[in-house]
Amino acid sequence: MKTVRTLSPNFDARPDGVRPEILVLHYTDTNTLDETLAILLDRAREVSAHYVVAEDGTVHALVDEDKRAWHAGKASWRGFSDVNARSIGIEIQNPGHRCGYRPFPDAQIAAVCELARDICARHKIAPRDVVGHSDVASMRKRDPGEFFPWTKLAAAGVGLNPVDVPASDAREYGPGESGAAIAEAQRDLARIGYGCPQTGMLDDETAAVLVAFQRRWRQTRFDGRLDGQTRALLGAVVAQIFY
Ligand SMILES: [Zn+2]
Repeated sequence: MKTVRTLSPNFDARPDGVRPEILVLHYTDTNTLDETLAILLDRAREVSAHYVVAEDGTVHALVDEDKRAWHAGKASWRGFSDVNARSIGIEIQNPGHRCGYRPFPDAQIAAVCELARDICARHKIAPRDVVGHSDVASMRKRDPGEFFPWTKLAAAGVGLNPVDVPASDAREYGPGESGAAIAEAQRDLARIGYGCPQTGMLDDETAAVLVAFQRRWRQTRFDGRLDGQTRALLGAVVAQIFY
């Protein structure tokens, strides 16, 4: 893994006694690596990440891991609202949904796997706490997106294992609907770690969280509706974490 060290000024201290226990993966949402580095090194932008992984697999180390980088913004995971304080952030070069989202090259993913595996081992980050930006900021973010190969990370020992459940013709729930199935899904999402309302209603925020969950666990369909397969996937992910 080729690593280049280029320090960003955009960080501060982690609060006393707070250590990294979450790994947040992003895409950069920029056309070029130069553009990414210009933003993340610009003091006025007040954004950064610990690492940027270029498309050729080169790793740019911008913030020391013991510092708080500013990558997650307003976010929530497992009830923690200061996600930056408790996380390490990796930005993965990709134009993103705004500029021409495309699959991640193999060399880049190999470097992400190696870097992430090393980080998780050194900080004892649990598989359930390897997340995408969209998992911790579902209302605002779509990254790293539906092309991100979570199964390759899992094969490299990073994050939760893939789950496979069949399609289902069970009743689907859409925007504005209420019921016990929705309440159960909201409980499952919160147990997994999502900041999800517990209203029993498929409101806008719950739909956004469902989209984030689906974008990760069923990358071919992420519409925020509560269908039978999504309910089964939720159960399988909860089971993987807790049982
Ligand atoms: Zn992001």
